[in-house]
Amino acid sequence: MDLGIAGRKAIICASSKGLGKACAMELANEGVEIVINGRTPDSLEATAEEIRNATGTVVTTVACDVTTAEGRTQLLAACPDPDILVNNAGGPPPGNFRDWEGEEWHKALEANMVTPILLTKAVIDGMISRKFGRVVNITSGAVKAPISILGLSNGARSGLTGFVAGLAREVAANNVTVNNLLPGPFETDRLTATLESAAKKNGTTLDEEWTKRRSSNPSKRFGKPDEFGAACAFLCSTRAGFITGQNWLLDGGSYPGTF
Ligand code: NAP
Repeated sequence: MDLGIAGRKAIICASSKGLGKACAMELANEGVEIVINGRTPDSLEATAEEIRNATGTVVTTVACDVTTAEGRTQLLAACPDPDILVNNAGGPPPGNFRDWEGEEWHKALEANMVTPILLTKAVIDGMISRKFGRVVNITSGAVKAPISILGLSNGARSGLTGFVAGLAREVAANNVTVNNLLPGPFETDRLTATLESAAKKNGTTLDEEWTKRRSSNPSKRFGKPDEFGAACAFLCSTRAGFITGQNWLLDGGSYPGTF
């Protein structure tokens, strides 16, 4: 299927590893010129080189913390008029809500709610005027089925989800769509960190948590990042122009509800 986005420009936040990287790779595969981002210059440059070699597309790197105003300014300077924006940042740490004060909550809100909203605000009017735009937010399956040790994530991402539901309808007539992708367990560094934390809490080993989580999923496996990237590229495509304001769960069937 031709996704119809060759030659488009995209900013993919937090994309030197994991799900963001997979989104960047799939968009690059479609001939999109991409700006990728991460805080660690070495891994960011290595990923840029890998994507250039694999796809031949133009890859610009911006090493910065996307959750800061300076970081966002740098990203937008590298690509002031993107056709596609993939919002992403590291997830908040797991823990017990009794240990969190305002500082922890504000940090989570800044990273996983305010940052994507401000980046969207910066680019969406340009998308509207060009009559094409795709915004995809990487959130979490925890928005639909909360994970108790990820309370900061459950809360902050739900706030973003509520905002997106309203915005999507406001801009839909301009061929600008705004959607959320909700990962279940995907094989990335983040999953390892979450399972390490669960092992500590439960007095088990990482291997035990890994096996338990995998076998509890209906598909009996974890998601592969390239499967996530493919869904992202489709949502960014011309083919997905009638899909907006949606929350796509990619979890191997783990969420038990009918809807
Ligand atoms: P990951 O494998 O840990 O990769 C995170 C990427 O984001 C890295 O490239 C990291 O590079 C970059 N990054 C982190 N914080 C950043 C910041 N403040 N500014 C710029 N770049 C930043 O994580 P992932 O599994 O891809 O997860 C992506 C998002 O999906 C996270 O919010 C995570 O909580 C959520 N999620 C993941 C899963 C899963 O199973 N994997 C499930 C549900 C939700 P640097 O460290 O160099 O900055």
